[in-house]
Amino acid sequence: MRSLLRRSLPVEEPAGPLTGYKLAYPFLSADDRWAGFAGLSIGGQHVYGPLAEAACVWSRRHTPPKRTCSCGFYCFHALAPARAMACETRYRPTVLLEVAVTGNFIRYQDGLRYGRQRVRTVRVGRCRCGRPATVLVDSGSGLAGWRQLEPTCAGCGGWSAGLTFRALAERLGGTISVVSDCEPAPAGRPADASLCVPEPGAVEPRAGGPRGPARAGEPSLAVVAAEVALLQARLDELQRDLARLSGDDPSGAAR
Ligand SMILES: [Zn+2]
Ligand SMILES: [Zn+2]
Repeated sequence: MRSLLRRSLPVEEPAGPLTGYKLAYPFLSADDRWAGFAGLSIGGQHVYGPLAEAACVWSRRHTPPKRTCSCGFYCFHALAPARAMACETRYRPTVLLEVAVTGNFIRYQDGLRYGRQRVRTVRVGRCRCGRPATVLVDSGSGLAGWRQLEPTCAGCGGWSAGLTFRALAERLGGTISVVSDCEPAPAGRPADASLCVPEPGAVEPRAGGPRGPARAGEPSLAVVAAEVALLQARLDELQRDLARLSGDDPSGAAR
């Protein structure tokens, strides 16, 4: 029966590594020098690096992925289901990894189970407040030798010491790109833009403030700057007039 089952599965030999998308909790080593990731369920107590090989947590007698076991790494074929999963409460502090799957794998309808992966890109999602995260701060949780990080926006991060995307990339060995997973809103959908910040460090419009993201028909930044310059010039003129009045008027000076 087992041999029949084995024969029923086709053997696939892709030309190159397969691409997958998965969630993982980000970690920073105790000495602040290295970063890594931990899985969501089985194997979640083990931090892995950019290049990682799975080990079976149930048995040392086989290497993942074994068909009759549940061991190995998991990933989705597409980005969308990984993003959808990231909305779940317990997965909010995760980051999204784009991985290259090498070695043996088992293909499922939505993704793969496999034994070896290389992280290509780290995509950082939103802060708990809904804005795109721009730094990763200590979450307060951790494993032996590793502090768990949490994606946060600059506003909510407050006084906490945070790792920038560049600092995280450096601690992953410098060959992995760390990017925001918040894509710019398409043209004609300004409402979505209120949740997006283009780059860390960029001036962010205050939520609920008088001036939200630029819409068609609103004055551009250049126009606003010109208005401010004009106002400043008028104030300077007024101050000169006041100074002249107080200085040139002898009756005023005598009183
Ligand atoms: Zn196993
Ligand atoms: Zn926030």
